[in-house]
Amino acid sequence: MSEGKQRPLNARCALALGCSVVYATHADGTVAAFCGCAHPTHAGVAGANGVWLLPYGEDSPAGWACTGPLIERFGLTVGPGNEERTFWVARDWGQDDDTFATGATAGDAIAKWAAEFGVGGEVRRG
Ligand SMILES: [Zn+2]
Repeated sequence: MSEGKQRPLNARCALALGCSVVYATHADGTVAAFCGCAHPTHAGVAGANGVWLLPYGEDSPAGWACTGPLIERFGLTVGPGNEERTFWVARDWGQDDDTFATGATAGDAIAKWAAEFGVGGEVRRG
């Protein structure tokens, strides 16, 4: 599996937060991602092949439960990207820089921001 955007968003987000993500390819070619470190704050519900990753970025109560706290953790400002709210923006107002990510929902934008700019729970600069 190649690096980058082909990985599921929740896997990229979990990696950025310090999880050692493990992939399993099913017979039909679909890829499932699991928490390889089994840290209690990383992992979601146990599944047949391991512990499912938390659904970072998913627009659901479970998705919000794990994604919402990232706003405070990284000091993000989150809001609609336009008046029609057709996309959302998560932004970190840094001292000398300004990082942002956009997504279809607020949670999607937050998870994309964390996946790109968050490393081990810290903001990656420069
Ligand atoms: Zn983990």
